[in-house]
Formats: sequence, structure tokens, C-alpha cells
Amino acid sequence: MNTYATPSQAKLPGPPEIPTDLLIGGEWRAAQGARRFDVIDPSSGRVLTSVADGTVSDGMAAVEAADQSAKAWAATAPRARSKILQACYESMMDHQAWLAELISLENGKALDDAKGEVAYAAEFFRWYAEEGVRLNGELNMAPGGANRILVQYAPVGISLLITPWNLPAAMATRKIAPALAAGCTCILKPAEETPLTALAIAKLMLMAGLPAGVLNIVTTTDPGPLASAILHDPRVRKLSFTGSTEVGRILLREAADNIVSPSMELGGNAPFLVFDDADLVAAIEGALAAKMRHGGEACIAANRFLVQRGIYDAFAERLTERMGALNVGDGCAVDTQCGAMINAAAVGKIERLVDDAKARGARVLVGGTRCERPGFFYPPTVLVDIDPGAAILQEEIFGPVAALTSFDTVDEAIALANATEFGLGAYVYTSDLKLGLRVSEQIESGMIGLNRGVLSDPAGPFGGVKQSGLGREGSHHGIKEFTEARYIAVEW
Ligand code: ADP
Repeated sequence: MNTYATPSQAKLPGPPEIPTDLLIGGEWRAAQGARRFDVIDPSSGRVLTSVADGTVSDGMAAVEAADQSAKAWAATAPRARSKILQACYESMMDHQAWLAELISLENGKALDDAKGEVAYAAEFFRWYAEEGVRLNGELNMAPGGANRILVQYAPVGISLLITPWNLPAAMATRKIAPALAAGCTCILKPAEETPLTALAIAKLMLMAGLPAGVLNIVTTTDPGPLASAILHDPRVRKLSFTGSTEVGRILLREAADNIVSPSMELGGNAPFLVFDDADLVAAIEGALAAKMRHGGEACIAANRFLVQRGIYDAFAERLTERMGALNVGDGCAVDTQCGAMINAAAVGKIERLVDDAKARGARVLVGGTRCERPGFFYPPTVLVDIDPGAAILQEEIFGPVAALTSFDTVDEAIALANATEFGLGAYVYTSDLKLGLRVSEQIESGMIGLNRGVLSDPAGPFGGVKQSGLGREGSHHGIKEFTEARYIAVEW
């Protein structure tokens, strides 16, 4: 078995080594043809290690393994599944520092963000350990009075889970935990930029007692053909995807042939509304959380700051002070507050959006040019007076750039907030709760933070409207995505 050791592994409690092969049927296997690809440290641009580069036939082997264990896992008592998930939670938390270091190494995010991610990710195991034993059905009298209507929630079947690089632990556990709790076996395809975190979590899960074949992992640099082949195998009944809207569309088409049930968590363009009467201190704290967690590389990151004219200058000034004071550096350095971006293309995209806004008259209050240092860095940046036609208001920035626009009336704010095809996250700051709730109900968004800059919570239904997705993850809604209602009309 090929493995990888993090630099400070000797000091941290952890499994001895991180596997770098495919996980199929409980065994760590090389890819067909022994193909491998490099994993890069975005803080330095250096190669960390390499992992197996799975092929279509490896993907089909994973489907076979998931199928072999499907019946037994579905028949395992909910309490027994729940105990394993609880053990996974404990194991992740026991290894929080070790996993956080690994996330910072391969993703580049600041260690504090990575620690927070591990706790959030582990919580999905605890939450679904609890939900899995409460998947309650229904028993109703038919309106005609002749029979009963019995409804049970059965596992949907083999599930393909495809995750992005921005939260390599949490995006994986947010899918694995409800799938397993519902009684499904699955195949995880992690992002090629950050495969090690998923492999490390899988190792912890096997150590926590997960039976072979229940979770299979295929890493690859060629996800299109692999996902297509898996989705065309009639044994596969579920696709849960987090990533770009563009890839989401491709996968929905692939899922269409066999009518595979899709859950899609796609792109966002979150507005952050600040009304004149907002508590400025709270709004700034919320803005920093909504903008800067995970270096801005989050689909619910505040993308467009819409600030009412009376508070605009004060908000811009304070935000600039705070953004300018953040330490940019190596993800694993203890004093880093804003780590590296994932790769050169990500920095290039941020640069293009900022340059376009500048060319259209935006003023730069802090930052605004890429960092000249090894690795992939962009500094915390505040832009004001953005032209309405600027690309930065339309596209996901996915970086530490706050773009501020002013508004005068409530109706104008709502119209600006909704002027996007996306509808994932939104934030509203006002001291008038009545106004806040009215605006929250009119914003076309799956999730709204009202006087709160943090939305993610395993107990809340995470998901979007419009082109931001289908279905919900987390909460009691998340487990339902991995079930099918079985209706039995009974007479007795
Ligand atoms: P991002 O822009 O955040 O990298 P992507 O949507 O490109 O988002 O990637 C999210 C996940 O989707 C990754 O695991 C990636 O490998 C996978 N992916 C990309 N293209 C395809 C595809 N054609 N079919 C299946 N998965 C894909």
C-alpha cells in the first residue's frame, strides 16, 4: 500500500500513515495500470505526494464492491449503523489537529479554518448517528376509510458522491454520513486537488469499524468518463454532487439516462445586505466571517456587499481596516489568517475580476494586486464603487475580495440581491427584525443569515434555489435525500 506522512506527524496523534491508493471493497488498491497523479501544496507550489489515478474500470470495481455490501448494510440495524457513525465522529475529533494539518497542506487554507472544518465535518457523523435511528415512517387512515396507508423510508441504493476541494473534509462527510445512516453504500470521488483528506477520513472510518465495501473511494484526474460510467450502471440510484453549476449541468444530463436521483449543491453569488440601522460592529464581524472563512473559497461566501448609503462609508472604512490587518501566509503557519488559494488558475480568476472592476472605475481601498511570493496567494482586498456591469458582481469570486455597492431603498436592495441566476446563501444586517424578516422572505435564496455571518450548521438544511442546486444537505432533510418513500396500502 502506498502511503503519505504529514511533516509533523511524529508530534501528532494519528493513524501511522495516510493511504494514497484507491479504497475498493475495504482494500487499498493501486489504480489500473498503476497510474498516479501529484498532489500540490498551494502554499509553496511544491509536490506533497502522489495518489492513485483511477480509471473507468476502477470505478466499475467500486460499484461492484458497493453492490456486494449493499444488502448487508441495508439490513444492519439502524442502532448498529449509528454506533459506527458515532465512532467515526469521535475518531475524527481525536485526530482533529492531524486532519487540520493535512487539510491546510493540500488545500492551503489557514490552520484555524481547517480545525473548524474538521469539527464541522465530524459533526455530520454525530448528527446522522442520531438521525439514523429516527427515520420515522407514517401510518395513516385512507380518506375513503377502507384501508391504511403505510409509508417507510427505504435506502435509495448505491450512491455516487462527488465533492469539491474547498472543504475536502466537510463536503465528504456531509454526504457520506446521511448516505450511510439511511442504509446506502457509496462511492466517493473527491476533488483531484485535495484527495488526501478523504483518504485519511476513510482510514479513520475503517478503524472505527466501518465494514468493507460500504464506502469506496476512487481518486482520478479524469472524472467525466468515470462518473458517466458509474451513473449508467443500473445498480447506481443516487448522485450527490457539490461543485460548479457548469459541472452540475453535465452530471444532471448523465443522471438523466437512468433516472438517477440527483442532489446538487452548486455555485452561489451571495449578497450581504447592510441597512442604515444595522449594528455596525456586528455587521463587520459578520462580514469578515461571511467573506473570509476558508479564504473566501466557499460557495456561501459573501460575494456582493450591498450597503445602504447612510452607513456605506463607515462600513467600508472599518472593513478595510480589518481586512488590511489580516496575516496572509502559509496555511500551516500558526499566525496565518488568510491562507493560499487552491491553484494558479484560482488566483488568475480573482485577478481578472478585480482588474475588470478597476478598469470600470472601482476604487481599491486595500489589496488589489496579487502577492509576489511562491505558492498561490491573493491578499484581502476591498473594492468600492463597483460598476453594475462589472463581472465581479455576476461571477463567484472564490477569494478574499469584498466588492461594495451602495443602495438607497429597501426595494432597490432586494432587486440588486436577486439580480443573479444563483440563490444559495444571503446575509441581511438590520436592527429592525420586522424589516429583516420581510427582506429575508423576498430574497431568492435557500439560506439567509439574519444578523449572522455563519450559515453552515449540520442541523440546518443547506442548499440553494434557482441555479444553485436541488435538494438539501444536513438536518433531517439531508437523510431523506438518500431514501425513497415506500408506500404500502394495507387492509386489515
Ligand atoms: P470547482 O470549480 O470548485 O473545482 P468543479 O465543479 O469543477 O468545481 O469540481 C467539483 C467536483 O466535480 C470535483 O470532484 C471534480 O473532479 C468533479 N468534476 C469535474 N468535472 C466533472 C465531470 N465532467 N464529471 C464528473 N465530475 C466532475
